[in-house]
Amino acid sequence: SSWWSGVQMGPPDAILGVTEAFRRDTNPNKINLGVGAYRDDNGKPYVLSVVRKAEDKIKAKNLDKEYAPISGVAEFCKRSIELALGEGSDVTSNGLNATVQSISGTGSLRVGAAFLNGFFPGNKTVYLPAPSWGNHTPLFKHSGLDVKAYRYYDPKTCGLDFSGAVEDISKIPEKSIILLHACAHNPTGVDPTREQWAELSALIKKRNLFPYFDMAYQGFATGNVDNDAYAVRLFIKEGHRIALAQSYAKNMGLYGERTGAFSLVASSKEEADRCMSQIKILIRALYSNPPINGARIASEILGDPELRSEWLKEVKGMADRIISVRTKLRDNLKKEGSTRNWDHITNQIGMFCFTGMKAPEVEKIIKEHSVYLTKDGRISMAGVTSKNVDYLARAIHAVTK
Ligand code: PMP
Repeated sequence: SSWWSGVQMGPPDAILGVTEAFRRDTNPNKINLGVGAYRDDNGKPYVLSVVRKAEDKIKAKNLDKEYAPISGVAEFCKRSIELALGEGSDVTSNGLNATVQSISGTGSLRVGAAFLNGFFPGNKTVYLPAPSWGNHTPLFKHSGLDVKAYRYYDPKTCGLDFSGAVEDISKIPEKSIILLHACAHNPTGVDPTREQWAELSALIKKRNLFPYFDMAYQGFATGNVDNDAYAVRLFIKEGHRIALAQSYAKNMGLYGERTGAFSLVASSKEEADRCMSQIKILIRALYSNPPINGARIASEILGDPELRSEWLKEVKGMADRIISVRTKLRDNLKKEGSTRNWDHITNQIGMFCFTGMKAPEVEKIIKEHSVYLTKDGRISMAGVTSKNVDYLARAIHAVTK
């Protein structure tokens, strides 16, 4: 028999499967709301004009294609941690951060997970919000960590189950790892308020938990990169030593360039240096060193005042378009005569909306209206446009009345 006769067929990816079914559908009105990638108002992929400009500038420099260091493009790492913590943060001015460039948000999370699995001195269990990004569980398990959950989303209100979260977090064994979505929680679009973040920070400190922030949407939630970094900066201010994974997939539209960063905030520069040496040893064995192109684009944008301010406008433009289709969708549902409360469509933020549609409703809207979404009722607001929002509202009303 063959070497691989014992290999069983694995299940298709939950989100990719949606796109495949969408492609097979011949309905001209079909809408794909499964994919978490930004689309313009014509439903087309969008390359930021500031990215094109940065690419032209980089091309004119005629740079070589030598390997980056194991930790990636140094300028990129510096700019990334500054983007997260703000310029002139105590952390960066005292050299407390160990920051490496990695392979977008996923690779950055994975490098951090590998480090925690190797060196975290406490309970090697990560507590995720329920629900969380579908890839968190396999990613952390693949790194050797255990995965558990704390309550987060309340299906009754389509909002935050804050008291449930507080109750569960209070019971997490001390010295465990807690994963927090920095902003624009995926898949629910539900974030804590600033007051709630302050309570969470105090509680997490009291329980002596280690906060690992996943920041995949900085700028995408409110349209402002500083507002969206509020939680991360608050935790730093409150004295937490955190881990942080950043992605430029959404906020610079660099999806396929795989551009991101992992940072660990240590208690001293000497400690940061020791941790950095171990993170580099792990990366060397995983993929040696990261790709250079996206990091060059991102650091060109972040380091050039003109490009940077143009970028901030484009991020806001993307966030604003999403916010405006949220309002249109909610208003249209009302106009269609829906008696359900759809306020959560505009209360939720970021790329996704957790509609509250139940599995049979999701099945029906796919089958009868060619509107494609994941089974949990999550829709990517980035796929909603001024052209398809009427059709979408009619379809949602038809399956939920
Ligand atoms: N974390 C969260 C919460 C995400 O939604 C995503 C993107 N879907 C990622 C991390 C990582 O994405 P990427 O690897 O493309 O940067």
